[in-house]
Parts: sequence; C-alpha cells; structure tokens
Amino acid sequence: MSMHSGTATTMTDSHYEVLVVGGGIHGAGAAQACAAAGYRCLLVEQHDWGWATSSRSSKLLHGGLRYLQTGQLKLVRECLQERERLLRNAPELAHSNWFYLPLYEDSNYPPWKIFAGLSLYRLFTGLANPHGRFRIVPRSEWQHLHGLCTDRLRAVFAYQDAQTDDRLLTQAVKDSAVSLGCETACPAEFLAATHSSDGWRVDIHDSSGIRTINCSVLVNASGPWVNDVIGRCGSRTSLPIELVQGTHLVLQQQISRECFYLEASDHRAVFVLPWHGRTLVGTTETRYQGDPAATQPTAAELQYLLATVREHFPQADLAIHEQFSGLRVLPASTERAFLRSRDTQFLDDRGLISLYGGKLTAYRATAEQLLGHVRRHLDARTPIADTRTLPLHHPAADS
Ligand SMILES: Cc1cc2nc3c(=O)[nH]c(=O)nc-3n(C[C@H](O)[C@H](O)[C@H](O)COP(=O)(O)OP(=O)(O)OC[C@H]3O[C@@H](n4cnc5c(N)ncnc54)[C@H](O)[C@@H]3O)c2cc1C
Repeated sequence: MSMHSGTATTMTDSHYEVLVVGGGIHGAGAAQACAAAGYRCLLVEQHDWGWATSSRSSKLLHGGLRYLQTGQLKLVRECLQERERLLRNAPELAHSNWFYLPLYEDSNYPPWKIFAGLSLYRLFTGLANPHGRFRIVPRSEWQHLHGLCTDRLRAVFAYQDAQTDDRLLTQAVKDSAVSLGCETACPAEFLAATHSSDGWRVDIHDSSGIRTINCSVLVNASGPWVNDVIGRCGSRTSLPIELVQGTHLVLQQQISRECFYLEASDHRAVFVLPWHGRTLVGTTETRYQGDPAATQPTAAELQYLLATVREHFPQADLAIHEQFSGLRVLPASTERAFLRSRDTQFLDDRGLISLYGGKLTAYRATAEQLLGHVRRHLDARTPIADTRTLPLHHPAADS
C-alpha cells in the first residue's frame, strides 16, 4: 500500500511549542491547525505520510448515512459540512458522485426509513445545495444500473456523497501545514518523553540518530498506536479502546463509474466504488489484537466481500487486483462495532493531548477541537490563516 512520497526532515530547532506525533490525517490536520493559529510546530511520522489508516479507508468524504441509524446526528452534520468545505477548498482531491442504494425484499430497511434518512442528509447539506439532492430511481432505469441484480428488488435510491484519495489528501494537508511554517521529521520515530515544569522533553530517532527536543504541548495523533505513545510518555493509564479491522479489496475491473451502497447478508453496509479505473469494495468489522503494523485481510473477510459483490452483480468479473486492511480505533465495548460512536475522543494529561477515533472527512473540525485543548496550555498567538477557507493542492503538483 505504501508509496514513499518524497519524505523529508525540515526540523531546524530543538524547541517547539507543539510537537505532533503521527503523520496520518489527524496529525497533519493538527499540525495545520496549530500552524495556522500561529504556533511553532513540528510534525513527526515514523514511516510515511498517510502510511497507516489514512491510506486504507473507504476514501469517502461522507456524512455517513448509516450513522443516522445510530443517532449520531452531530457527527453526520459535521461531516457533511466538512465534505462541502473539501469540495470547495480541494477540488483536485475531492469530487462528488452518485451513490445507488438498492433495497431488496429481505432488507432491514423499509424504503420510508431511507427516504427519511436522505431527507435529513439533505437538510444537513443545505436545502439549496445541489449535493443534497436525492431521488427514487424508477423501475424503468433499473436495467441501466451496471448489471445490478433486480430479483426481489423493491426500490433503488440515488443520492450524492464524495470521494477522495485519502493518502494524497493527508499529504496535501501536511503540505499546507508546512506552507504555514510547520516543520517535519519523516521518517522519524517518537521514542519517549518525560514531563517537567518546563513542558516535555522528547527523544526522536531519525536517520541522523537520536535527537532531544523540548515542547510545551505534545499531540498524540498516532491512531492505532495511541496507547503505545501514551506508554512511551511514562503514563501507566491507557485508553479503553479496541482495534477493529476493516478490509477492502480492489477488483481489476470497474463495475461502474458511480458508487453503490449495498446491504450485505448480515445487513452491514458494503460499498462498491470506482477507484482508478478499478472497483474498491469494502469494508468489514473484525476485532484485532496485536501489532497494528501487521494487520492483514483474512480469508473470511475476502469471502464475505466477494459474496456480497457476487450476490448483487452476478455477472461481475471478481478477479482481485489488490487487498488491504486498516484499523478503526473505537471505544471498548461489548456492542457491535457498527453501534459504537465514531466521534473523536480526547484525553489531555499535563499537555499530552491524545486523540483517537474520528473520520477522515471531519479531520479539520477535529483539529479545531484539538486547538481548544492546546490553548489551555499556550497563550493565544496572532493567527496566520483560517483552515475553513485554505485551499489544498494535489501534492504531485508541488513536487
Ligand atoms: C476500514 C476503514 C475505513 C474507513 N473509511 C472511512 C471513510 O470512507 N471516510 C472517512 O471519513 N473515514 C473513514 N475511516 C476513518 C479514517 O480512515 C480514520 O479515522 C483516519 O484515517 C485515522 O487517522 P489517524 O491520523 O488518526 O491515524 P493513522 O492514519 O493511523 O495515523 C497514525 C500515524 O501515526 C504514526 N505513528 C505511530 N506511532 C508513532 C511513533 N512512535 N512515532 C512516529 N509516528 C508514529 C503511524 O505511522 C501513522 O502514520 C475509515 C477507517 C477504517 C479503518
């Protein structure tokens, strides 16, 4: 999955106001927000920008229609607002697309429920916004839905959401942070930190050896490694989290240029999405224990995804081009992963601010929340930019 993206270390100093650990979307977003707020900032990543979860998502900029079902209205609304911002600020990296949602006779969702959900989605997007449009696809058009199985089909809805390239988006946000004065170290591993009245003393390992740096605030945006980094800061308390693996496969053939939101045999959502001339299919929910770097698709996950595609597109060529998995960091619970909150959670321990969970789509809103925590430890500076309107550029255009 990982393609090295011209990583570089621009670290010039041994003291920063904010040091961010983790070059995924949340670390890049945190660095961008802190730099925009006028703080002197360093972003540290052990492998490559967006290397972990932030290149293994479903690559959707979406409100998350399914989260309406679990009552996460605030999250859906925030994600839809951020989706719209990204469509405006990052047109090279975000595009809207039509999503078809077929409902069969054995579906868990009666059509009125989907209609109500899409109406709410539209309301949150803004009634005058064309991206909020949705419609019921008439029966006469079903034969044009790229070979979608029409046996026992009751209704098909079409609505709009957006797609991105998650890894490139992460790089673009990192580039934006750098343009605002943030410095970077990559590849560079955060080894350990100790706290004193002056703040944090941090050891970082990069190609030139171990460097010691001081900072006032330490942001832990290390995703699935969140508890590992807390442990490296000498804390004995760990966050009550659980890692839940989600697998995607990429089919060689493109089924459709539009997107499909399918209901799998266990009533979970599985997306079938156009992706670089191929088809991205995902995802799954499999509890994961062990080294976050070693996550791999299981045979059962691949079978489940292939069976879902086969059932809905009986004629599709199922040759697999690529497969990958990423890890959701969810609050520990005995509930099904689907039912658990996708909101970002924060823990502030003496200026070590750890965050986990959240959505790629809402990274900017998450970073604003994080800034609120940072400001409890640092005086306000004169802001140099507003991330709500800052343009993001395709990274290839800069290198
Ligand atoms: C299967 C799946 C599908 C998803 N689909 C979507 C979607 O379609 N849309 C959406 O909005 N959201 C989606 N999400 C959620 C979204 O992908 C994640 O919330 C987001 O990518 C998490 O980013 P992060 O920066 O917190 O973590 P990560 O991207 O995992 O980044 C953490 C980084 O920290 C680095 N790190 C760790 N330890 C150290 C250390 N000691 N020193 C230096 N660096 C370190 C790691 O190398 C890594 O790069 C999905 C999630 C999953 C799992």
